[in-house]
Amino acid sequence: MQYHVDGDLVPESEATVNVADRGFRYGDAAFETLRAYGGDVFRWDAHADRLDATCETLGIDHGLSRSDLRARVDETLAANDLDDAYVRLSVTRGAQQGKLTPRPVEDPTVVVMVKPLPRGGVDGADVWDGPAGVDTVETRRIPDAAIPASAKTHNYLNGILARRELSETADEALVCDVDGFVAEGATSNVFFVDDGTLHTPSLDGPVLPGITRDVVLDLADDRGIPVETGFYEPEQVRRADEVFCTNTTWEVRPVARVDGEAFPAPGPVTADLADAFDDVVEREHY
Ligand code: PMP
Repeated sequence: MQYHVDGDLVPESEATVNVADRGFRYGDAAFETLRAYGGDVFRWDAHADRLDATCETLGIDHGLSRSDLRARVDETLAANDLDDAYVRLSVTRGAQQGKLTPRPVEDPTVVVMVKPLPRGGVDGADVWDGPAGVDTVETRRIPDAAIPASAKTHNYLNGILARRELSETADEALVCDVDGFVAEGATSNVFFVDDGTLHTPSLDGPVLPGITRDVVLDLADDRGIPVETGFYEPEQVRRADEVFCTNTTWEVRPVARVDGEAFPAPGPVTADLADAFDDVVEREHY
C-alpha cells in the first residue's frame, strides 16, 4: 500500500511521523475513519464536518482546505487502485518540542492510510466476523466535561480499556456513562428495538455522533419506524427484541448476544435497516 504523509505518497513501510509529533506523544490529533465505495468516499461532507468540529474542540487550526484533505484521500485511493476501501485520515497538531501547553499549529501532520475493504451489506462480503457478541463493561465513558465525546481524537484509551475487559466470545463492549446509562460501544453506536420502536442513546450523553447512526436514524424515519433517543440502563438493552451496532466499517452489524441474553441476529428491523443502508450505498456509489 501507499500512504499519504504530509503531502507525499510513500510506501507503507516508509510512512512514519516524527517522534516529537503531538499526535504520538499525547493523542493530540483529530481523525476520521472513512469508507470508499466504488472509488468514492461515503458521506464525505458529514465526515469533513465532524473533523472540523473535532479540530475546533482541540483548537487545531490546521489551515488546510476541505478540498485539499479530500484530494489527499482521493490520491491515496487512486495510487493503490482501490475502489472499495477503509480510509483513515488523521490531522495532528504536529511536532512541537517541550511543553504540554500547545503552541499555535505551524506544521500539522496529515496522514491518509488505506486498506482494501470489500463492500459489505446484505449481498456483499461480511466486513465483520459474524454478528457481534457484546459484554457490558465496568470501564465508564469519559464524561463530556473531561473530553467531549463528540470529538474524534487519537485518544482511544477509553475504548481500549473497555475492550480489554471483554470475554472471549465478545467483540464489542457496552460502555456506560459515569451514571450507569448506556453510552455506546468502544468503536460503535448502539441501537435496540423494543416493541417495534428503535432506541439509541441520546447525543446529550457522552456519545460520538456517528455518521452511520445518522444515516440509520434517517432510514428509520423514512420507513415509519418509531424512533426514540434517551438515557437507557443496560437492562433495557438486555430485555430488548433486537440489538445492533453501527459504524463506518461495520455499517449495520447485528448483535447476537448481550451479556447472558441471546438475540436473533439479524432481527427483522435490523435486517430491514441493513438492507436499506445497502440500498443507499448502491444508489450513491454504483
Ligand atoms: N462511537 C465511537 C466511540 C466510535 O469510535 C465510532 C467509530 N467512528 C462510532 C461511535 C461510530 O461512528 P461512525 O458511524 O461515524 O463510524
